[in-house]
Amino acid sequence: MKKILSVVLCLMIVFASSVVFANQESGTYTAGTYTATVPAMHGPLTVEVEVSDTAILSVKVTSHVETPGVGDVAAEQIPAAIVEQQSLAVDAVSGVTITTEAIKRAVEDCIKQANGDLELLKKPLEKTAAGDIEETADVIVVGGGGAGLVSAITALENGASVILIEKMGFLGGNSIVAGGIYNAPDPSKQDIAEFPGDLDSYVENILAEEPKSELHKELLATIKEEFEEYKKSDRKMFDSPSFFAVQTWNAGDNIGYLDMVKILCDGAYDGMKWVESLGMKYKPEIFLASGSLYPRTHYAVAEQPNGTGYISSFINKLKEFDNYTQMMNTTGVSLIMDGEKVVGVNAVGKDGNKVTLHANKGVVLATGGFGGNVKLRQEYCEGEKWPDLGPHVPTSNMPGVTGDGIFMARDAGAQLVNMEQIQLLHACNPITGATYDIVSADCFVNQEGKRFVREDGRRDEMSKAILAQTGGIMYCVFSADFAPDPATAKALGGMSLQYMLDHNISKYVQADTLEELAEKIGMPPEALVQTVKEFNSYVDGEAKDPLGRVAFSGVKIEKGPFYAYPRSPAVHHTMGGVLIDDKTRALNADGNIVPGLYCAGEITGVLHGGNRVGGNAIVDFVVFGRIAGENAAKGE
Ligand code: ADP
Repeated sequence: MKKILSVVLCLMIVFASSVVFANQESGTYTAGTYTATVPAMHGPLTVEVEVSDTAILSVKVTSHVETPGVGDVAAEQIPAAIVEQQSLAVDAVSGVTITTEAIKRAVEDCIKQANGDLELLKKPLEKTAAGDIEETADVIVVGGGGAGLVSAITALENGASVILIEKMGFLGGNSIVAGGIYNAPDPSKQDIAEFPGDLDSYVENILAEEPKSELHKELLATIKEEFEEYKKSDRKMFDSPSFFAVQTWNAGDNIGYLDMVKILCDGAYDGMKWVESLGMKYKPEIFLASGSLYPRTHYAVAEQPNGTGYISSFINKLKEFDNYTQMMNTTGVSLIMDGEKVVGVNAVGKDGNKVTLHANKGVVLATGGFGGNVKLRQEYCEGEKWPDLGPHVPTSNMPGVTGDGIFMARDAGAQLVNMEQIQLLHACNPITGATYDIVSADCFVNQEGKRFVREDGRRDEMSKAILAQTGGIMYCVFSADFAPDPATAKALGGMSLQYMLDHNISKYVQADTLEELAEKIGMPPEALVQTVKEFNSYVDGEAKDPLGRVAFSGVKIEKGPFYAYPRSPAVHHTMGGVLIDDKTRALNADGNIVPGLYCAGEITGVLHGGNRVGGNAIVDFVVFGRIAGENAAKGE
C-alpha cells in the first residue's frame, strides 16, 4: 500500500513541478567536438561539447576543482539540462550559482567555436508554473544536511514514511563542506601511538577541577577510576566517553548542558560505526585535528573529501526506502499547529507554489545554524568577544543555512538558548572562508615571521589571536617533511598541493629555502628561520613551547621545499539555538515539550556552549539525528 502511495506521491510531485519546454528552434553548428576552460569558483573548469549540424549532442564537464559534492551537482545537472532543452537559458542549481554560470560560459565558448547562434540559445525558455502541493507522511523532515538525512534514515528504519524538504538544489548543507572529521574514543586506533605530550599533567589538570554539579562530580570520579586502570595497563593512550564529555564541556566554558554533552560523547563511537556501516570510510590513524583538543579525531579517506563521504552514504541508503520522498528547492516557512501541537509544515516550492505537508507523528527541524545570515549574527552575536561580525567577515557556511528553522521553532513555542554563542574558525581561506584547501595547519606564523598562539588550543582563542595580528591573517608553514610529494599531498577537499601551486589557488607559496619562502610572502627571513628552529625544538621535546602548546604532530619543518599559505578566521558555527531534551523534543521556556516537534544538528543550542570542539559537529548530527529520527517515528 505504502509503495503504491509513494508512487502516486512521486507522480503528483512531478505533476506539480514546473514544466520547461525545450527550445523550439533548432540551431545550426559546424559539427565536431569543442573544449573550453574558464575560471570557476575555486579554479579552472573545462567542458567538452559535441555538436552535429543541427543539435548539441553532449556536454561534459571534464575537469573542475569546485566544492566537492556541491560543484559536482551542477557539473552533472547543468550539462544534462543544456542537452535536453537545447538551450543555455536553463535554471541554475540553487546554491551552486557560480559553478552553474562557469559551465554555461564554457559551453558558450564552445558554441562560438562551432559557429552556433548564441542569441538563439540564450532565449528564455517557456515554462508553466508548478501547482500547489498538499501531502501527508508520518514524519516531515525540514533540511537535507547531515542531521536531516540521518533523521530521515532513522525514521524510515523505524517504519515511518518520510518526506524531506530541502531549500537548495543540492543535499548536504554545511555538513558536506565540513572538514569531515569525527571525534570518538577509539582504543584500537588510539593505542597505535603515544600521546604526543605530557599526558599525566593533561589528565591531572582536569581531575583537579572543582565539580560544578552532581553529574560533573560523577564524571570526574569515573575518569579518576579509568585513569588509574589505564596507568596499570600497557595501553599507550588514555581516553573514555566521560573524559571526552568533560573536555567538551570545559572547552565550551561549561555553558553547554552537561547531560546532553554526555549523550553526545557516549554515543560517538556507536554513531561512527553506524556511518561506517553505510559506506563512510576513515583513515587508519587517529589525529589531533586543529581545535579538537585531544587525539581522538578520525579523518575521512582522501577519496571522500570534506563531508562528501557522509552525505553520499546517506543518499545511497535513502534509495533503499520506498516510503521516502524528497522535495528539493522547497523552503520550510512555518509550522502547522493544532493547538499547541506541531502537526505539519508550510513550505514554498521553487516557483513560489504553496507546499503543505501534514505529519502523522512528528516534524524534525534540521535546518542548521545561522552563521551565513549576516543580519542575525550581528544582531545576536556581536559583543565583547566578537565586536565585528559584519558582511566583510568571511563565512564557511553554505548559502541555504540562514537560521530559518530556529525561528519556526520559536514561533511554535520553543525556547531558544545560547543564541549569542558563535564560532569563528581560525584556518579559513581569507577570501572565500572555505576549508577545502587546507593541507597542513600545524605551525602558525604571523606577517612578522613569528609564532603567536598555541596551535593545539581552542578555536576561539586561535581566532582572536589571528585577528590581533597584522592584517588579521596568519600563514600556515610546512615543508617536505609533511608533504614529501606535492603531487600526492592532498588538501581536505581532495585537490593536490601541486595543482594548487600550478593554478595559483589559495595563494600557496613554495620555496627551496625558508629565507626564500619568507621573501616571497614579505616576512623578515631571519625571523622565520629562528621561529622554525624553535618550533622544531618543541616538536623534539627538547624545549617547552612558551606559548603553551602541549600536543605536537611529531613532524618538524626541516627539509625543503618549504610551503606557506595565508589563513584568517571565518564565521563557522552557531552554538545557540533550540532547547531540546534527551529525545530531541523541543522544549518551551517552562521546560515542557512542544508536542510533535523534534530538532537535531546545528539548529539546537544545548551542546557546544561558548566554543565548539573541532570534530564534534558531525558527531552532533549523527548522534542526535538518530535520536530525532527514532523518536519522531514513534511520535514519542
Ligand atoms: P546540520 O549539520 O545541522 O544538518 P547543515 O548545515 O548540514 O546542518 O544542513 C542544514 C540544511 O537545511 C541545509 O541543507 C539547508 O539548505 C537546509 N535548510 C535551511 N533552511 C531551510 C528551510 N527553511 N527549508 C528547507 N531546508 C532548509
